[in-house]
Amino acid sequence: MTEVYNFCAGPAMLPKAVMAKAQKEFVHWQNTGCSVMELSHRSKEFIGVAEKAEADLRELMHIPENYKVLFCHGGGRGQFSAVPLNLLPQGKTADYIVSGAWSKAAAHEAKNFGEINVIDITKQENGQTSLKPSSQWPLTADAAYVHYCPNETVDGLEIFSIPETHGVPLVADMSSTILSRAIDVNKFALIYAGAQKNIGPSGLTIVIIREDMLNQACQQTPSIMNYTLIAKNGSMYNTPPTYAWYLAGLVFEWLKDQGGVSAISQINQQKAQLLYKAIDESHFYVNHIDNHYRSLMNVPFWLTDESLNAEFLAQAQSAGLVALKGHRSVGGMRASIYNAMPLSGVKALVHFMQTFAQQNS
Ligand SMILES: *Cc1c(COP(=O)(O)O)cnc(C)c1O
Repeated sequence: MTEVYNFCAGPAMLPKAVMAKAQKEFVHWQNTGCSVMELSHRSKEFIGVAEKAEADLRELMHIPENYKVLFCHGGGRGQFSAVPLNLLPQGKTADYIVSGAWSKAAAHEAKNFGEINVIDITKQENGQTSLKPSSQWPLTADAAYVHYCPNETVDGLEIFSIPETHGVPLVADMSSTILSRAIDVNKFALIYAGAQKNIGPSGLTIVIIREDMLNQACQQTPSIMNYTLIAKNGSMYNTPPTYAWYLAGLVFEWLKDQGGVSAISQINQQKAQLLYKAIDESHFYVNHIDNHYRSLMNVPFWLTDESLNAEFLAQAQSAGLVALKGHRSVGGMRASIYNAMPLSGVKALVHFMQTFAQQNS
């Protein structure tokens, strides 16, 4: 079988080494005679797996001691509800920065739970999609928090500098950017991320919360979404997604072996530069995002002759380059190039794109 590179936006590809290790220990994990999947979440064996995963994530992201790391259910969208339920008291407002599809969806969900101020920061300029700088965001002075999405997975748009909120707690949906580049966790009150892009399999959601944000959940918060309760119980208030937690742990170990976040971030830069360069240098492909905000993780592009879309996808598939079809809301193509995508995968894609362009120009 030819080597397959999977450019899916999520669930996304996992590192080969992680898959091989998981396969090897799938039936008999260490000396238990059982699969990790069959272990009680309260067994000392699983607690060992869980604690190691958390310690490795803390090390990778330099998470300070005054933050809790929660291993939750419910994906990114679960957090769209959990954040306002836990952090937005009656009589207060939360600012929602809208920079694309996911932050818009987060704002839409939050409206069900409290007073939301939506701040659309997108702008069209010279035929490109761009964003207003954070100095121009009309933030509410005494907001309960500011929510934003540093990487818009659908739109292919990334905000690289951390917004200045003048003391208002900053909440970030990092589902598609977590662990891809270094960030200063101290600048955030809460970070959340669905696992299926840069961490592991779907079904697990990571929440990193500063301790002073606990203990303010509204009365109606479902217990399985209550950060305080989850934190108090070491993410085992109810049965956590144990196998996904274990696999996330393998991904964290793998990432440490690669040299950690700063090392992978350099490869991510290289991958994205290579791909954007190939798009910009051809008249055959186009990307509409302002250079300053182009995502390192999700690269949407369009064929200038869209009648060739189906042929492009079919030939790419035959060449082992799969899941390149763009999100249904924006069309075109999208290459998601998370941590697990090796440089060789992006090189193979660029080579294919150049050959396809030559043959069809
Ligand atoms: C994928 C994604 C989500 C949604 O995640 P689910 O786990 O499907 O709920 C939310 N936010 C961002 C930025 C995403 O990329």
